[in-house]
Amino acid sequence: MPELPEVESVRRGLVAAKLQAPVCSLWRSAFKLRIGKHWESENLECLRGATPGAVGRRGKYIVWSFRGADDAPLGLVIHLGMSGRCGVAIASQPRVLHTHLALGFADGRELRLVDPRRFGGLRAGPWETLMTSPPIGELGPEPLDPDLSGELLQARLGASARPIRDALLDQEAIAGLGNIYAVEALFLAGIHPQIEARRLHRSAWDRLAVAIVGVLRQGIENGGTTLKDFRNVIGEVGRNQDDLRVYGRAGEACPRCGEALRGFVSGGRSGAFCPRDQARPRTRLLR
Ligand SMILES: [Zn+2]
Repeated sequence: MPELPEVESVRRGLVAAKLQAPVCSLWRSAFKLRIGKHWESENLECLRGATPGAVGRRGKYIVWSFRGADDAPLGLVIHLGMSGRCGVAIASQPRVLHTHLALGFADGRELRLVDPRRFGGLRAGPWETLMTSPPIGELGPEPLDPDLSGELLQARLGASARPIRDALLDQEAIAGLGNIYAVEALFLAGIHPQIEARRLHRSAWDRLAVAIVGVLRQGIENGGTTLKDFRNVIGEVGRNQDDLRVYGRAGEACPRCGEALRGFVSGGRSGAFCPRDQARPRTRLLR
């Protein structure tokens, strides 16, 4: 699933495309998108005649501002699900299979969302409503905001009895992290992925905050991680998969100490860790 760096790559691609002409056509396939069906109606019709503004991002969501035909502030939220791709095409180019949205602009171009597995979501509406209701309204803080700190992470996750890797995936606690970057950050911070979040000491939270910023920045610089589906707006794969330290590398040598990395599965998602650098503390929780 695209995580923060992949969605940021898509955002930057949309910014570079400079879509500025008003929306003049709208086509939506008959298929529902799985994440989006839990939100309020897609409400895409409100974008007809609207003029695109800044393309932003919150967590794993593209959040694009528009100015309605009546000048009202509007927005479009896009979630790429597992396999969603945003591209910009000339309107006369044939639509590929699994296209679910074609938003046409008056300059003859279209924003197209192609999503074979249909896990994503779309929602448009008044800007204020989008910012204060699901999915955007319930997101936790942005990990790349300057005020991310060990203290903030501990305040949001430190009471959880869940394994820290699983707790980090909670978008309401902290936005944007998925399995890949959580597993990588825990390696950099030297924290066992299956330790209960509430057992972490303050120093571990501090290391984790630094590690999260590090892995996300590296992912963005590398244009995202492509294990299978991810492509940016112009169809390129990311490069970060070559720089992953432990994710997907169970059995290989730890890049830090040479010990064989070990795989684990938790919450249905697999990861890897170094049994030496990320040792599980032996002491029991003191209450
Ligand atoms: Zn190691």
